[in-house]
Amino acid sequence: MSDKSEKITMLHGAGGSVMHDLVKNYIVKYFGGLGNAAEVPLEAMDDAAVIGDIVFKSDSHAVKPIFFPGGDIGRMAISGTVNDISCLGAEPYALACGLILEEGLTLSDLEKILVSMRQTCIEAGVGIVTGDTKVVEKGSLGGCVMNVSGIGKRTSALESNLQVVRQYRELKTRWTLDSNLTEGDKIILSGTIGDHGLAVLSAQQGLTFGSKILSDVKPLNHMVQALLGTVGGVVAMKDPTRGGLADALNEWTEKSKIGILVHENKVPIRQDVQTACEMLGLDPLEIGNEGKMIIGIVPEKAEEALKFLKQTKEGKDAQIIGETTTDFKGVAMQTLVGGKRIIAKPVGDPVPRIC
Ligand code: MG
Repeated sequence: MSDKSEKITMLHGAGGSVMHDLVKNYIVKYFGGLGNAAEVPLEAMDDAAVIGDIVFKSDSHAVKPIFFPGGDIGRMAISGTVNDISCLGAEPYALACGLILEEGLTLSDLEKILVSMRQTCIEAGVGIVTGDTKVVEKGSLGGCVMNVSGIGKRTSALESNLQVVRQYRELKTRWTLDSNLTEGDKIILSGTIGDHGLAVLSAQQGLTFGSKILSDVKPLNHMVQALLGTVGGVVAMKDPTRGGLADALNEWTEKSKIGILVHENKVPIRQDVQTACEMLGLDPLEIGNEGKMIIGIVPEKAEEALKFLKQTKEGKDAQIIGETTTDFKGVAMQTLVGGKRIIAKPVGDPVPRIC
């Protein structure tokens, strides 16, 4: 039993090591191992679970404020679940939405969010088939919070992707999992990092950065399925949300038991995001994104995949940012000046209530 004086803090919801410890030592401790065995169970702590041929995911959103430059809570909730299901190589097709509305939220704001959710569903080609609505007294929700759960299925694109992988090496799983990386795999990042976190921060603090930084929030399922079906060779995918690229890559190194070397000059960052981060003392590697994917791929297909991604609107700024290695454990960055620095697992995302 835990110490009675220990309390939940904002860091427990901020990605990074504090949140991972909470999930592992409390949530997984009590929920793990229940019911029928899943192929990818809760304990794997992957982006979604696998039961039979179905990928299943639940994701809650409590972003503050509910409207921010480039998006809103509704677009983010749909995209978040769609992207997590996509990480495993599945195509999302049905969602459930639980809304918790706060007393005082205007119906016009609610409608704006619902319109945005409808548009995002159309964009992703998914339906919302069930849900629930509750209302709570005025407090600290900032208007509303919501949960979107969803299911996805195997596709012929995923099957052909795995066939390509197996031309080059053995792969024990039928899904693109965090634990699938082996020595020499290339790491592709689908676009610029830090945009979402800074867009939300600017809305929270009333900051302007000289130019408008918009959230990257978007569904990535079409880009992912097209990549799997057209190029193939992908072994792992992850959306670097809370805790950013630093957290996502560290999760990969832990689960795949392999080192990752990242080349600083290859990581795409917008100049205005870089400048704002320097001004605010933030590390763009630790800031959450909502429309980006990191892709682990067999080296033989990396260049072809990059060329393909650059032709898509979601992946036009993609780069091969690094590769796996057995030379060291964890994540290291080859810096611009030729040195190496450790990219530690962040304690938590520096921007609170980012998603
Ligand atoms: Mg994820």
